Amino acid sequence: MTGIDAMVHAIEAYTSRLRKNPLSDNLAREALQLLGGNIHTAVHRGGDRDARGAMLLGACLAGQAFANAPVAAVHALAYPLGGHYHLPHGLTNSLVLPAVLEFNMPTAWELYAELAAIVAPAAQGSGEARAAALVQALRELIAAIGLPATLQQAGVAEQDLELLARDAMQQQRLLVNNPREVGHDDALAIYRAAWGAL
Ligand SMILES: [Zn+2]
Repeated sequence: MTGIDAMVHAIEAYTSRLRKNPLSDNLAREALQLLGGNIHTAVHRGGDRDARGAMLLGACLAGQAFANAPVAAVHALAYPLGGHYHLPHGLTNSLVLPAVLEFNMPTAWELYAELAAIVAPAAQGSGEARAAALVQALRELIAAIGLPATLQQAGVAEQDLELLARDAMQQQRLLVNNPREVGHDDALAIYRAAWGAL
């Protein structure tokens, strides 16, 4: 869970609307390389010190990236899940990550295509296709490390999605950094997609 959170720090820093900058970009790319390349081993062979060390360094670099290019809608929509359901921070990020990236596609696909070269290097085709491959690779990674794929699987009640969307709107400090503007109805649609996505 914390490994996915660190990857989200790198991804959101790289697409941060207000403070994206070359230093954070380089930190985020290096972080994603380390995190994406080692999270599977770190989870399934916890005694692998090289993999664990790479995760530590990747998490540190991702933290430095988002300290200067703040995180955005993934975190804004994750917080209410932690508040109401007491789910761990990394899990809440993981649960909304694919749906938020899909929502951001119209404005962020070029940047996601750049990150696909790191996380899904075999991806080919148009920029949009490579951006979609990034999201697919993240979905597969989340499944491969054993995390629940949907809000439904994590025990979130469908009738709470409206409450979650209202609370997410309070996170303007983070939402202003999102590459695409997020309104209440958008947040609700993202939660619905995250709730039932297979
Ligand atoms: Zn986080």
